[in-house]
Amino acid sequence: MFCPNCGKEIMPGADICFGCGIMINKIMKAPPRHVSVGWWWLGFFFPIVGFILWACLSGNEPEKAKKCGFGALVGAIISVVGLVLLYGLIFVLAFLGSTIYL
Ligand SMILES: [Zn+2]
Repeated sequence: MFCPNCGKEIMPGADICFGCGIMINKIMKAPPRHVSVGWWWLGFFFPIVGFILWACLSGNEPEKAKKCGFGALVGAIISVVGLVLLYGLIFVLAFLGSTIYL
């Protein structure tokens, strides 16, 4: 392993280069490019927008597209489940109402 800054050989697993004193871990183990969670929420609240963005971005920005698409998927599933539950509740209430009042 060689220092990316000065090129001097460094011990494997060392945190600091003894040649120039640079922090190795900060360079080698850079965190993955962070994609804002906002894209997820955008897809979640507006599944149609999320799916359109997913289709548009999947070529250029796959990470962003994945977030949009996943948020849209979850949002769509939740809205469908919510609608089913709502109609189920209305049906049950209507059924109960009819048995009580008739
Ligand atoms: Zn160095």
